[in-house]
Amino acid sequence: MKTIGMLGGMSWESTATYYRELNQGVKNALGGLHSAKISMVSVDFDEIEKLQHQNDWEGTAKILCAAAESVESAGADLLIICTNTMHIVAPQIEAAISIPLLHIADATAISLLADKVKRVGLLGTKFTMEEGFYKSRLVEKYDLEVVVPEQEDREIIHQVIYEELCLGIINDSSRKAYLEIIEKLQQQKLDAIILGCTEIALLISQQDTDIRLYDTVKLHAQQAVAAAIQQ
Ligand code: GLU
Repeated sequence: MKTIGMLGGMSWESTATYYRELNQGVKNALGGLHSAKISMVSVDFDEIEKLQHQNDWEGTAKILCAAAESVESAGADLLIICTNTMHIVAPQIEAAISIPLLHIADATAISLLADKVKRVGLLGTKFTMEEGFYKSRLVEKYDLEVVVPEQEDREIIHQVIYEELCLGIINDSSRKAYLEIIEKLQQQKLDAIILGCTEIALLISQQDTDIRLYDTVKLHAQQAVAAAIQQ
């Protein structure tokens, strides 16, 4: 079995889910006492968040490249960045290491295409919903149509991520607000919604809505497990 490298801590609330999903995935595949081989560096999210909101992406890249190098030195055979947003510096991280990086948007798109989804809504941080790095990959590499909420709704989604979910705070009123935004998006004839932030599944789940939800943590973890157990 290969060792999965994780860049975690962004936030640790969702890294904990990743850790569980990876181990559960290996156990499901191999049975018994099998568990995932993992090497992880977990960063201080306070430092990352400050740099993000100053638009200092090179500053975040420096921290994450050093972390990725440590993960590789600790024996990882492949790397996953356990957040959607920080894939904004995926090219720099990829250049700093010699092991493959499994991109979260690829894991998601492959699953969408397998389910014949064509037109999809994207929820995530403002960076993920507004900057090109994520949407363009889905559109250009996989020919998906990607719809994001209107500006006011993007603000709400972003605020709930940073001020609640990344702090482990789960509010019914925020769940209601997210579901209202999803309902508005559904009027644009979508086939599915991408939970394109690793904390959103802490707030909403498939039983809250009729539209199909694609949880990026689950899909990314499944992709990593498949790669790790592949002979
Ligand atoms: N974990 C979140 C994501 O998937 C947001 C936190 C971050 O900025 O990394 O985008």
